[in-house]
Amino acid sequence: MGRAFVYVILGGGVAAGYAAVEFAKRGVSHGELCIISEEPVAPYERPALSKGFLLPESPARLPSFHTCVGDNEERLTPKWYKEHGIELVLGTRVKSADVRRRKLLTATGETISYKFLIIATGARALKLEEFGVSGSEAENVCYLRDLADANSLVNVMQSCSGGNAIVIGGGYIGMECAASLVINKINVTMVFPEAHCMARLFTPKIASYYEDYYQSKGVKFIKGTVLSSFEFDSSGKVTAVNLRDGSRLPVDMVVVGIGIRPNTSLFEGQLTLEKGGIKVNGKLQTSNNSIYAVGDVAAFPVKLFGETRRLEHVDAARKSAKHAVAAILEPEKTGEFDYLPFFYSRVFAFSWQFYGDNAGEAVHFGDYSGSTFGAYWISKGHLVGSFLEGGTKEEYEAITNATRLKPAVEDLAELGRQGLNFALTVSKKPQPTPPMEVSTASLILEKPIFPWYATAGVVVAASIAAFAYWYGRRRRRW
Ligand SMILES: Cc1cc2nc3c(=O)[nH]c(=O)nc-3n(C[C@H](O)[C@H](O)[C@H](O)COP(=O)(O)OP(=O)(O)OC[C@H]3O[C@@H](n4cnc5c(N)ncnc54)[C@H](O)[C@@H]3O)c2cc1C
Repeated sequence: MGRAFVYVILGGGVAAGYAAVEFAKRGVSHGELCIISEEPVAPYERPALSKGFLLPESPARLPSFHTCVGDNEERLTPKWYKEHGIELVLGTRVKSADVRRRKLLTATGETISYKFLIIATGARALKLEEFGVSGSEAENVCYLRDLADANSLVNVMQSCSGGNAIVIGGGYIGMECAASLVINKINVTMVFPEAHCMARLFTPKIASYYEDYYQSKGVKFIKGTVLSSFEFDSSGKVTAVNLRDGSRLPVDMVVVGIGIRPNTSLFEGQLTLEKGGIKVNGKLQTSNNSIYAVGDVAAFPVKLFGETRRLEHVDAARKSAKHAVAAILEPEKTGEFDYLPFFYSRVFAFSWQFYGDNAGEAVHFGDYSGSTFGAYWISKGHLVGSFLEGGTKEEYEAITNATRLKPAVEDLAELGRQGLNFALTVSKKPQPTPPMEVSTASLILEKPIFPWYATAGVVVAASIAAFAYWYGRRRRRW
């Protein structure tokens, strides 16, 4: 049994949905495009699973968060795919890929061949077993990567109201789940090996702001240790966790958020891999020129930093997917993917955004006892990253623009004093000529991701050297 398509998207997550809308906008013909997904539902906005989906009242449920609502675009229901002649092969795992013969074999025994393949297989949650701890299969041990996980987390939460939960891991899944558990009236203890939460991104100062708030909501933190084993009752439920530091905590439920691993296995030995993902060029094209990779699974060149990175963020999935479709359909007109890394999170009433790179020295600004504060990261004399909590639309736009411009910064204390005004001034000031050589692909002209914290704006291209000259002159005038 076999079918053939011109374009096949392997994976039915965020990137697949955004690729599909781009194919439709660019006039793909009925019957040319197929999406194969292990999940039983059409692509959806995965970040909703740790936010609106876990609310005790009026929780978000499909079809409300099918892609592409997260980017204020059309919501692609199964009906939309049907109307556009896009074949959705759902609930179907691809078990092998033959890159040379351009064929995929599904677990149901079907062969699906393609002219162009977009790999959008995303990533899977790392399991405790990979760290030598068994017990992931217990019914009250929850992970959170897909809808099935989210449904089971909700069921377990509902059966544990007033009980105790242990959250293993202090990254964004752990932080977002801990907040949701508190909102669901569950007592939460977070356990992680680092010195503070969100250790890959936050400075100790930023982390302590959020940790203080979590503590005010009753969350306990146990840092610098890891889980060593579970204790079970006769029905196989976890009743206690043992930590490596010797402590033992009775529990009603456990949520595990210890990282992800990209789903590359189908292509290992067939395509070039890098940074744990599938290596692509600036057109999102893999080492095989009929195959593209996008989203969490792709390791792509980040022009702004001059190196290949693999990002695990929804915005990168959306934009890389659209860019790959443009590169496939209009290769001559499509430039290199020029992406400013962007990540956001929402917990309780907080909302933060981060742009760029958290490399070099961090300079904090704003009111850390209030509700609007942030940090810049300065590396080799230039601003390379910006974080902002509680900003306005204009302020988020300003830090986006400033980060992309990578302005020179000489005086870190002065930068801290100026705080947001620095980004606001940089982004408003007409940039001096001559402009740096920047392709049109480097202009961000996107719609906002969510109306309440719109991030997009027109980014001006400018010479970094000329900017440094201008900024130096301006500083001297103060
Ligand atoms: C709970 C949660 C909350 C998040 N919140 C945020 C956030 O606040 N901000 C942010 O920036 N990012 C967030 N992210 C990350 C963001 O969702 C991911 O970066 C994004 O989903 C990546 O999109 P993708 O299409 O590459 O992969 P995915 O969305 O993971 O989709 C991959 C798809 O491929 C399918 N698949 C894999 N292998 C096969 C196979 N062999 N056969 C068939 N199908 C297969 C999977 O079933 C899945 O449908 C969150 C992620 C999670 C899990």
